[in-house]
Amino acid sequence: MNTEKLFEILSDMHQTMEQEKDFLTELDNAIADGDHGINMAKGLAAVQEKIEGLKGQRIGAVLKSVGMTLVSAVGGSAGPLYGTAFMKAGMLMSDKQTMDINDFLACMDAAVEGVMARGRSTEGEKTMLDAMIPALNAMKKANSENLPPKAVLEAGVAAAKCGVEYTKTIAATKGRASYIGERSIGHQDPGATSFTYLLDVVANAI
Ligand code: ADP
Ligand code: MG
Repeated sequence: MNTEKLFEILSDMHQTMEQEKDFLTELDNAIADGDHGINMAKGLAAVQEKIEGLKGQRIGAVLKSVGMTLVSAVGGSAGPLYGTAFMKAGMLMSDKQTMDINDFLACMDAAVEGVMARGRSTEGEKTMLDAMIPALNAMKKANSENLPPKAVLEAGVAAAKCGVEYTKTIAATKGRASYIGERSIGHQDPGATSFTYLLDVVANAI
């Protein structure tokens, strides 16, 4: 993946978030404040606006800039959390021009760590981490079996989807959904859902 490919992926992410805005908002409405779709669409729209000015930069600098844009453009928790994820990935890639599957997995590792630190959260709390962590584990496993990058990403998407299903079975203990506690059981987590869409965009682009 070079920066041109990354710009393409970021545009696709923006489009997907626009398409899924109402559904993500509906999911958030059931357990929290109903703004997740709006937040994600707004964040990726702000990223889209930045792309032109980022042409010619290294991949790490682009990722860092995406992260900072998400943090500043989005109110609420998902913007700063996704923003941290992109910034951590950017720091790791700072001297790179391109990214291979091993780099991508290292970025995902840094992203998960970043979200856990910033959100003071872990797996099993009904958050985006319940899609991110299983996806990362599945991708590491697929990669260690020497599957091609697209298959590695597809394994990640499949695991993220299972993660989303798992969030229906547990109560939220982090984020706004934790205010309703046990009553959040039966509903899927909006952030785990949006992460699955974003990873799916990457898988489709490879
Ligand atoms: P807000 O909760 O501020 O309204 P959003 O609705 O945009 O922000 O995002 C909600 C999503 O953010 C949740 O569905 C969950 O996946 C994720 N989230 C919230 N708090 C945390 C946390 N502490 N750690 C990880 N993810 C979190
Ligand atoms: Mg919300």
